[in-house]
Amino acid sequence: MAATLDEMTPYQIRVFGDPVLRKVAQEVSDIDAKLAKLVDDMLETMYAEPGIGLAAPQVGVQRRFFVYDIGEGPQTLINPVIEESDGEWVYEEGCLSVPGLSWDIVRPKQIHVTGYNLDGQEVSFEADELLSRMIQHELDHLDGVMLIDHLEGATRKKAMRKVRELFIDPDESTEQAAPSKFKLGGLRLP
Ligand code: ZN
Repeated sequence: MAATLDEMTPYQIRVFGDPVLRKVAQEVSDIDAKLAKLVDDMLETMYAEPGIGLAAPQVGVQRRFFVYDIGEGPQTLINPVIEESDGEWVYEEGCLSVPGLSWDIVRPKQIHVTGYNLDGQEVSFEADELLSRMIQHELDHLDGVMLIDHLEGATRKKAMRKVRELFIDPDESTEQAAPSKFKLGGLRLP
């Protein structure tokens, strides 16, 4: 399942255009030493950027987990599910897989999320503002959703053009991303 990588180097973060970022990741079945090692490497990669969150597909691993640190220490969330969401919050969001670009994106402000931690314990908590935003963003990655999918109309077109210019070979930039396929599951925008 895991990408073959040199253990001594941090992962290379996949950027927009890499097909792995558009796949739906599979649930983690074993929370074991192998996963713990992966988590360590992902945290190292995330801190090196620096970023506040990094999802497994961003390093080519198609499994449902991500690592994060919003200033309160490193955390891992495995098989996360957003049970409820509420409110609305606009926040300028960037992504390590779309480096250098950011957009104002509307998402629910608060969420109730469940999942597992690296000790295999079930977790269930409320998140607000930045923590909520980061979790929603990382969970999107597990479903093959990129932040550009949250934009609409002219803003989306403009963003798509910019992304293609920067990350995709202009000769190959045909309409290949089917937006309707990547709508958020339980996280419909208001
Ligand atoms: Zn991202």
